[in-house]
Amino acid sequence: MDTLYQLIRQPARVVIVTHKNPDGDALGSTLALSMVLEKLRHQVTVVLPNEYPPLFNFLPGIDKVIIGEFNPEDATGAFEKADVIFCLDFNSLDRIDRFGLDVMASNATKILIDHHIDPEPFADHIISKTEASSTAELVYDLLVDLSLKSYIDAQVAECLYTGILMDTGSFRYSTNPRVFEVAAELKRIGMDDYGLQIRLFNSMTEKQLKLLGHCLVNRMELMSEYHTGIIWLDKDDYKTWNIGRGDTEGIVNYILLVRNMKMAVFISEQQNVTKLSFRSKGNINVQEICNTYFNGGGHRNAAGGQSKASLADTLKKVKEIIPLTMPTHSLQHES
Ligand code: 5GP
Ligand code: MN
Repeated sequence: MDTLYQLIRQPARVVIVTHKNPDGDALGSTLALSMVLEKLRHQVTVVLPNEYPPLFNFLPGIDKVIIGEFNPEDATGAFEKADVIFCLDFNSLDRIDRFGLDVMASNATKILIDHHIDPEPFADHIISKTEASSTAELVYDLLVDLSLKSYIDAQVAECLYTGILMDTGSFRYSTNPRVFEVAAELKRIGMDDYGLQIRLFNSMTEKQLKLLGHCLVNRMELMSEYHTGIIWLDKDDYKTWNIGRGDTEGIVNYILLVRNMKMAVFISEQQNVTKLSFRSKGNINVQEICNTYFNGGGHRNAAGGQSKASLADTLKKVKEIIPLTMPTHSLQHES
């Protein structure tokens, strides 16, 4: 903390980078930190490995980010010039694609702030708390610890609250006593929680709502004996529905609305890869499944991974894995 305290008070060239396919926590924590650092006269560049979902267009400062996928030279240039690099909301450098090499090559002081399991030790300073609800919660705590609470204005607070809301499913999971205290403080600062709730959750496009209907009616398979449900989308679905970034976000969660469902899998056939999203309830560890079988990871109850195999083969593999991983005792004790 002493080192960070000194570091943060010396204006420097700072890059903040977060994981590819950034979600609300990745974006909210990153933009919040960038705004505070700018107030401290740092020269801040935010780098996103690829594009963000349009849902987050309203976040303050998002118009200034560099999207590495579209401007690789600008992104790499920023890493080369950086004195300090903050890595937010990811635990391994492959989560930022080729920019992982830029981070590795850089002589900057590297600070990792994250809540995923098993962070790789690539940074000089690591703040890793898997019990935190979100990286946004960790950024809030860090700012307080660095005596920078007065720099959290309503805009910073909205970014942080967005991160918390999205990573806790509106305080439905991954909660802890602290995150409620943080939320209260953010509200006190003037964060418009009702406005955010509407922007984030009552903002579906007609296409997204109909796509959800399609998934539930035509693409959902429940393996009730294993308390697991699967939803899949193939390449034709992507074409027919003109599915873009963020359009499938959250669909996997609907499976867990069904009574007795304990694990949910969403499988999508993308250009060069089959992507998987897992969600679970209670002590069913989907992070382990993603890590063991799908070259991925995440959290115990929310994880993801990918496969080079076709959609059909991936579906088959998932259906083979489910009986192996779902505890059999739960079969007898179901009400
Ligand atoms: P989602 O299913 O929403 O894409 O991701 C859920 C969680 O799993 C997030 O915390 C995300 O960081 C993690 N995750 C998703 N895909 C991958 C992946 O391919 N590799 C790793 N290591 N984590 C992933
Ligand atoms: Mn997060």
